[in-house]
Amino acid sequence: MEYRPLDYLGRRKRRALASKFSVFTGALLFWVVLTTIWWDVQQHTFSLAKGLVLCGLVAGIAIVISRFTIKVLGRPLKLLEAGITSVRQGRPEPIQVSRTGDEIESLGESFNLMIQALAESDEKIREYQEDLEERIRQRTAELELAKNAALAASQAKSDFLANMSHELRTPMNGLLGMLDLTLDSRLAPEQREQLELAQQCSHSLLALLNDILDLSKIEAGKMRLERMPFDLRGVVAQCVKTHLGKAQEKDIELRFVAATDDAVIVSGDPLRIRQIINNLLSNALKFTHRGWVEVRLSFRPLESAQAAGRGPKRMGNSEDLAALGESVVRESLQSGARDQRVESQIEAQLEVRDTGIGIDPDKISHIFEKFTQADYSITRKYGGTGLGLAITRGLVEMHSGQIHVESELGRGSRFVVNLPFDRAQAQAVEPAAPEPREIPAVAGTVRLLLVEDNPVNQKVVLGILRKKGYRIDIANHGREAIDKLESAETPYDVVLMDVQMPVLDGLEATRILRGNPKWDGLPIIAMTAHAMTGDRERCLAAGMSAYISKPIQPANLISMVDQYLTAPAGAAR
Ligand code: ADP
Repeated sequence: MEYRPLDYLGRRKRRALASKFSVFTGALLFWVVLTTIWWDVQQHTFSLAKGLVLCGLVAGIAIVISRFTIKVLGRPLKLLEAGITSVRQGRPEPIQVSRTGDEIESLGESFNLMIQALAESDEKIREYQEDLEERIRQRTAELELAKNAALAASQAKSDFLANMSHELRTPMNGLLGMLDLTLDSRLAPEQREQLELAQQCSHSLLALLNDILDLSKIEAGKMRLERMPFDLRGVVAQCVKTHLGKAQEKDIELRFVAATDDAVIVSGDPLRIRQIINNLLSNALKFTHRGWVEVRLSFRPLESAQAAGRGPKRMGNSEDLAALGESVVRESLQSGARDQRVESQIEAQLEVRDTGIGIDPDKISHIFEKFTQADYSITRKYGGTGLGLAITRGLVEMHSGQIHVESELGRGSRFVVNLPFDRAQAQAVEPAAPEPREIPAVAGTVRLLLVEDNPVNQKVVLGILRKKGYRIDIANHGREAIDKLESAETPYDVVLMDVQMPVLDGLEATRILRGNPKWDGLPIIAMTAHAMTGDRERCLAAGMSAYISKPIQPANLISMVDQYLTAPAGAAR
């Protein structure tokens, strides 16, 4: 930006002439006055009045000259000041440069150049800003698209998981059920051995399937924890008890050391806590060949000073352990009642120690990663997939807990899990195991309705329950079930209801039945291969009385049915 007034040359000359003229005039006048006064003094004609007049004259002329000079010099400075003010106020404007031909002029020129540079950089910043805003708009749109795609993918993944879970469990149910039934019949020893091997393989396959589904659920954030009051000490004790057989088989001492004899009622997910303990315990037994495996449980109050423990109690032999289980749970419920008013947070510390093969220090940091084993020869020797600890860590983290391991090769390992829990009221504690009951009904008069579309699964359930001598009718879908229930001369005692069926699914059929007060007290047990989080809740919300997941364990099915046969009327829901 070039700024030059039109009368540039004329003004410049005038200014230079004016300043020179004023300096010359001032000097001349001063000389004249001084000479006049000196002459008067020499001639003795000096009069005060004349001197005063002359001085006044000189002063007046000096004022005029100084005003002129101030005007000539001050104007460009004023212009410069106005320019600086415009910059300060954020609207930089070029100034009119006074062509004085000196530093003031070059100052004005520099100022204008600076304003020009400022204007150019402002323009560039504005362009960058617009460009940036445009890019942000584009990126936001792209991110939105990516987010929607990720959400759709996540939804597809969970749908896939749910379907996989269902599709894999349905044939597994048939396979395991049929093997159970066949093994219950008369067989030649060789056939029995072969079928038992097939049964073992199917159970391993089922365990692997469950592990893969669990890990996928944890990774997809689809695993949700239940929250119910349960006896933590009882649950740990029961897990230890279920491993006694394996320990005895390997001649390993299995110990349980608890910080308290009493029940410790906490709020949480007993199923997942069992899974954590069982994973650690079965690893400890798997990788130990002599010596002992010890499970320790201790507590530390997190919020209040009420300590849960009362000094460790050690149970070092199988007899002590055999005394655990149901009796412990019963005792727990009673002693838990004493703690009814204790409402605080505790941290449970669970330790599983063994004198087994230990873990190589180089490998120890990887054992919690999925599909990782400390040594691949382990797969050949001990089996396993390397999923157990990844699931365990996932579950511990979901509980806001921590897990760590210390190990020495050849000497043993120590896994420590710390889990925070809310202490819960003792009422409504989930029993650690269903208590067996006596069935008063005469078996032949008990009528069951099995609602199931899959012919193999029909055969499995019939095979399991027929041994009990019940009369069982079959409906192939929900609509047929409702018709059968409506037209039955003798009422059914229990309905076993599959969920996913053609024509009318189990959930809808249950809702229709529950809509009629006539079927209010009818026990309806959901029997489904849907084993994803929320499936149980969906079944119960539809009005079903209980839920049993496939593959069906014969003992579970029988005890569940028995439970409803002996329950007082109206206790179905
Ligand atoms: P898996 O047992 O199916 O191989 P895990 O995830 O449970 O898978 O364990 C991963 C690996 O960690 C095991 O293969 C083994 O090398 C090591 N490991 C786990 N627990 C122990 C233990 N108590 N003693 C020695 N090694 C262990």
